[in-house]
Amino acid sequence: MADKKSLGLLAQAGVEAYQESPNEEYMSDEQLTHFRKILEAWRNQLREEVDRTKSHMQDEAANFPDPVDRASQEEEFALELRTRDRERKLIKKIEKTLGLIESDDFGFCKTCGIEIGIRRLEARPTADQCIDCKTLSEIKEKQLGG
Ligand SMILES: [Zn+2]
Repeated sequence: MADKKSLGLLAQAGVEAYQESPNEEYMSDEQLTHFRKILEAWRNQLREEVDRTKSHMQDEAANFPDPVDRASQEEEFALELRTRDRERKLIKKIEKTLGLIESDDFGFCKTCGIEIGIRRLEARPTADQCIDCKTLSEIKEKQLGG
């Protein structure tokens, strides 16, 4: 049996890939509910991870007399802090996306306004651009950054 992580966000939220009924409108209430479930489950899981890291670091914040132990502990903490920072940013992004669902703006490309698509959103629920705009902005970013 596959573990939770490899099953992805849908399994984590306890939902199946969305099946549209014939003539169903894009981003119908059912679809919005579907994505709200996915996003909330994802956010809750990240929050748990952040909490776990926090308490783990408090437990481990003992003083090691040995400088080698101390150095490796500091390294480990630095890594955990980076992970937490990433998770916090992701939580913010998820909350912003949940806000889009509330205001009925979810599922459309912020750049060109077309439908992002259910399958793409299931793979990346925080996507706010269609695949074309995303690809373009990544190319631009690379040019600026390179
Ligand atoms: Zn677009």
